[in-house]
Amino acid sequence: MIAKVEPLTTARALRGPFDYKLGERFGDVGIGSLLLVPFGRQRLRGVVVGLAETSELAPERLAEPIAALGGPLPTGLVELGLWVAHEYCSTPSRGLELVLPPGAGKGPGARTELNAALTDAGRAALDGSERLGPKQRSALERLAAAGGAAAAGSERDSLKRLEARGLVELSEEEVSRRPVSVAVGARGERPALTPAQGAALARITSGLDGSGGELLLHGVTGSGKTEVYLTATEAALERGRGAIVLVPEIGLTPQTVSRFEARFGDRVAVLHSALSAGERRDEWLRVRRGEARVCVGPRSAVFAPVEGLGLIVVDEEHDSSYKQESDPRYDARDVAAHRARAEQAMLVAGTATPRPESWERLERVELPERADGSPMPGIEVLDMRERDGREGPLHARTREALARLAETGGKAIVMVPRRGWSPFLDCRVCGHAWYCPNCDVSLVLHRAGDVMRCHHCGHSERVPESCPECASVSIARHGAGSERLAEIVSDLVAPLPVLRLDSDSAARKGAHAAILGEFDRAEAGVLIGTQMVAKGHDFPDVVLSVVVDADSSLRFPDFRAEERTFALVSQLAGRSGRGGAGRVLVQTLAPGAEAITRAARHDAGGFLAGELERRRELSYPPFATLVRVEMAAKEAQAAENAARQTAARLRPLLPRDATLLGPAPRFRLRDRERRQVLVKAADRTATVDAVRAAVDGAIASRVMRNVQLSVDVDPQ
Ligand code: ADP
Ligand code: ZN
Ligand code: ZN
Repeated sequence: MIAKVEPLTTARALRGPFDYKLGERFGDVGIGSLLLVPFGRQRLRGVVVGLAETSELAPERLAEPIAALGGPLPTGLVELGLWVAHEYCSTPSRGLELVLPPGAGKGPGARTELNAALTDAGRAALDGSERLGPKQRSALERLAAAGGAAAAGSERDSLKRLEARGLVELSEEEVSRRPVSVAVGARGERPALTPAQGAALARITSGLDGSGGELLLHGVTGSGKTEVYLTATEAALERGRGAIVLVPEIGLTPQTVSRFEARFGDRVAVLHSALSAGERRDEWLRVRRGEARVCVGPRSAVFAPVEGLGLIVVDEEHDSSYKQESDPRYDARDVAAHRARAEQAMLVAGTATPRPESWERLERVELPERADGSPMPGIEVLDMRERDGREGPLHARTREALARLAETGGKAIVMVPRRGWSPFLDCRVCGHAWYCPNCDVSLVLHRAGDVMRCHHCGHSERVPESCPECASVSIARHGAGSERLAEIVSDLVAPLPVLRLDSDSAARKGAHAAILGEFDRAEAGVLIGTQMVAKGHDFPDVVLSVVVDADSSLRFPDFRAEERTFALVSQLAGRSGRGGAGRVLVQTLAPGAEAITRAARHDAGGFLAGELERRRELSYPPFATLVRVEMAAKEAQAAENAARQTAARLRPLLPRDATLLGPAPRFRLRDRERRQVLVKAADRTATVDAVRAAVDGAIASRVMRNVQLSVDVDPQ
């Protein structure tokens, strides 16, 4: 038998699969098996992607694998990994790494536990017929008392000696490292479904009973989407099928995870990056063995080895974390759709703020009202254009509302665009400004730690006491980040507590859940922070939400700026006013922008109709596919040359209707000069094929030396 093996290597130029001869000792090897193979003078791990009777190579030139490292994966997963590699212009090796067990063939092994049982001889020994050391005696006594039990680590050696004397019987048993989860606001009750939820569930089960399908579940925050996911998962399990539930980031959505664990207990496996390597491997194995039939996790969980998959849920489908920002730059939402089709499973993408892509393409089911029947909160747009700079970053109405909270009690959430104290410093005398030496961005002042930081590369330096150009000590701090706003808000709402949630305050493991937990338990107070405060969690008693600088995301030069702004404002607004009175204040310099006025009216349909119109006119997704090719190098000239050559290779390969933009500079990042070439075209397959061919051709050429090239299909 011949195995076609794709070696796991980072080299882009290497193209498999390569043939290996399978001798008798490799009888168990099949598609999806992990092998150790000789490759030139190296030994590489490789995945079997095909089997054949014969090879085109002469028999004496065929090598045998060195060892089998792991049992076969489901064929569907091997296909999925290779599909991702192809679809996103990556390599088979990188695609396959996605579907392999975590740490496959190199990570920690299984953890075993030593079980001991007393033999008859052992019992006799305890009665005094044999000489025993004190340690051995106490170990035997403990076993006799417990009637045989797992051994503590310190007893291992004594037990081994007792086993040699025939006094105990030992057995090794594999145990699972189950991650510990912290329950955040998981409410255990099971409500009767509302009619809208019932209709959504019926539509999903009809897909489960048929051949799958795709659905957009559009419902405002609190409309009961998660309850639909839970009952749909139950329906899948009842039919003997498994489910994958994708959430933006586990750390940001502890409540969703807790609710799945509360409902399904041990049948849920949670896969995410905060787990130790061993925990991740063991959770993966629980899914692989079918012990867990529901897998909850971030984007990578779309590759979980759930067999007989019936349902894939993509919660908060608008969230940009579904796109992986390193090679392979896959979009888990598209991978989920592909996998659902391949396995005839049902795909349910849920959100309050659908992407234009999903609105256009997917069948829609609406949950138009909140599950508790409370009205959506009133949203006031506060115009920040004609204000006196000395008033500070908060509008008078915002200050009043927060001050009132201090009197009435209750909870508020305040969202600010940036972390840190102030995002920009300059010299009042000569205008010198402080930039990162590695990136074209300004440094952000962080009062905690007394440093200025680059939010892109992590560079930090001490806060300057004087200007390096003119020695003036008059340095102005512009704008307000989360640190400074937390202090301003604290003054306004004192004595209520103010909790700050941003990637600084949540950096420590578990800190994020701890902050949310504290806010959940508090009688009253303010949660203030970056976009994190608008994501995933559910605090029914929030009466006030504030968006500071709502249009900061609109100012990005990006075709998704409108979509993002609409989502952020709507998501935060949705967190306010459950169970009655709620108020939302949106501070903005662009009070007339569609993204803001539509969000203020809770009008997702109106916003999306307008946005799709604009996208159609400009030929943006979903009406075209975008592919970005980026060249990065230490020297600007090297990046420029590489970009020009790539564009020249690409142009003749592109379909007729395609537009090629660039090469154009992108801002310098981590000490790399960058250039990009952007392709926009209606014919996706032809475009991606052209880019793949051009990139494969370019890789080998000399201008690519010391240049990092990356391809991003569907850039975010
Ligand atoms: P979403 O995921 O859309 O934000 P959830 O499923 O979290 O909505 O529901 C919001 C709140 O309403 C939760 O506290 C949930 O327990 C409750 N809820 C959901 N469905 C119902 C229902 N049918 N009847 C009563 N309460 C419900
Ligand atoms: Zn100066
Ligand atoms: Zn930097």
